[in-house]
Formats: sequence, structure tokens, C-alpha cells
Amino acid sequence: MSSRRLEDLNPVVADMCRRFLALCRDRGIDVVVTSTLRTEAEQLALFAQGRKSLWYVNELRRDAGLPPIKEEQNRIVTHVLTSVHQFGCAFDVCIIKDGRAVWNIKADVNENDIPDYEEIGKIGEHIGLTWGGRFKFKDYCHFEYTGGLTLEDLKAGLRPKGKTVHRNKEGGKVMGKSFWKSKTFWVNLIGVVGVIVQSQTGYVIDAEKQLVILGVINAILRFVTKEPITWSR
Ligand SMILES: [Zn+2]
Repeated sequence: MSSRRLEDLNPVVADMCRRFLALCRDRGIDVVVTSTLRTEAEQLALFAQGRKSLWYVNELRRDAGLPPIKEEQNRIVTHVLTSVHQFGCAFDVCIIKDGRAVWNIKADVNENDIPDYEEIGKIGEHIGLTWGGRFKFKDYCHFEYTGGLTLEDLKAGLRPKGKTVHRNKEGGKVMGKSFWKSKTFWVNLIGVVGVIVQSQTGYVIDAEKQLVILGVINAILRFVTKEPITWSR
């Protein structure tokens, strides 16, 4: 299940997040964290959204422990198959007014003529976070910090800040299950094969194809194991 706990973030990012929330409060903008750590399965389900049939999306969501969505919600919500969220280095927020979520990016709850999402974006940047409002595909609610590490570095197990580098090759551990029943194992194996194929042939597997491959793995593992595939970090 998707987490919104700050404790699930990388400690460096968690500290920045706390500072960020306090600074927003000081400015008269109430902000809540809506998402921190995300599993690979959750990200896969989110990536499928708006790209695959509702049935398929809901199958992936079920695997990820997420509730099903309706047809009208089946639209693109992410542009990445692997997210910084999976490594505890990103969090999403929402501005709150009178106990309600404010999604309008032009909203100005503290009435200082600066749109609040822009204001909190700048607060985040001020303390060193990267703000999703600057991304090519704008994501005003998203903040991240990787300490200069790339997604490839994170995948390789590196984490922000020299002192607290955690080697965690699989990005999580599999609970009480033989390794060949673990999705992480197969995903990594396919990843390695993919890298070899790509370097040998120059053939690049696009994200759409990766999605289909991962979907097939999901389906196969559903049959292999009776209990839902649980894997957490
Ligand atoms: Zn995000």
C-alpha cells in the first residue's frame, strides 16, 4: 500500500520535508504529504494508467494493493516507469484550506497574490529540493532530493549523502518467499538481459514494451504463488 509516512523517506529527504512543511506553515499555507515511498508494483500500475485498458490497470492495482479506479480516472498520471518515489527520495503534497484539498494550481489561500503551488515550489527549492513544477511534464505537487544522484545511481543502491549510502541492490527485500517467486528477482534478471541485448544489438526496448513484459511477469507469478505477491522494503 502506498505510504505517506515521512519515516519511509530517506532520512535526509525526511528532514528536508519536515523543514519544508514548517516553512510553508510559516507562510500561512497548510500543506499535507499525500505520498512518500512507492513500491515498484504501485509505480507500474500508475504508469499503466491512461495507457492500458481499465481492466488491465485494475489488475496491476490489485497486485499493488491499490483500490480499483473507474473508467473516467483511467488517464495518464505519470510519465516514468521508475520513479524517485521508489527510493524514498520524493514526496507529493497537497495544499489544504478549511480541511479540504486544494488542487487548483492558481489558488492563493494566503492571499498574497502569488499562486500557492508556485510559492511552495520556491520554498522547496530554497531548501534544496527539486520541484516537479519545473519538470517538462509539470508535477506541481512533487518534490524530490537525490543529492545529485541519477535514477541509475538510485537503482544501483546509492542514496543521498555520503555518510548514509545504503546498499540495497533489490530496492527492497522479499518476505518469506523463495527468490524465484519474487518479482524483484525476475524484473532485475530481465533488466540485466535487457541491458545486454541493448548493448549487443543497439536495440532499445521502449517503456511501452517494458510495461507489457512486466505485466506478463505479474500474470505468471500470480499463478506460481497462491498468496498475493507481497514484497516490501
Ligand atoms: Zn511525486
